[in-house]
Amino acid sequence: MITVTKEFTWDMAHMLACHEGLCKNVHGHTYKMQVEVAQRSGEVLSLPKQSEDGMVIDFKKLKDIVSAYIIEPLDHAFMYWVESPDTFEHELAVLLKKHNKKIASVTYKPTAEQMAKAFLEILQKELSKYNIIVKGVAVWETPTSFAKAVEV
Ligand SMILES: [Zn+2]
Repeated sequence: MITVTKEFTWDMAHMLACHEGLCKNVHGHTYKMQVEVAQRSGEVLSLPKQSEDGMVIDFKKLKDIVSAYIIEPLDHAFMYWVESPDTFEHELAVLLKKHNKKIASVTYKPTAEQMAKAFLEILQKELSKYNIIVKGVAVWETPTSFAKAVEV
């Protein structure tokens, strides 16, 4: 099987409610993400005939889809966990909304693990329309720390 992988970065703020360490505070990361995809058939690409492009997916198309569904909604936003047990997070979200600041509301605790899982699900849904499966989504919070969700 041949897979192709594209890398993305964005800047975003978050906080981890009820976390013991520093991450309970509002802070930001330059996130990095790798999205690995393959053709649904799982077949090794044969040498392209004249009518075929010899690609798993055009990198530009992959970029456009990932940008539209993941990067653009998140870049320079505060990721707001709508079920956060920390009232400060809700008060902050209200304040940000009042001042027309960018918020990305999610139903999960905004850890790299949960983001990878959520992004994998979003991209599986969108890319399946093009006969593409997402093999894995890896999300880096720092240059040395990442979580990866894989297709099962
Ligand atoms: Zn963080």
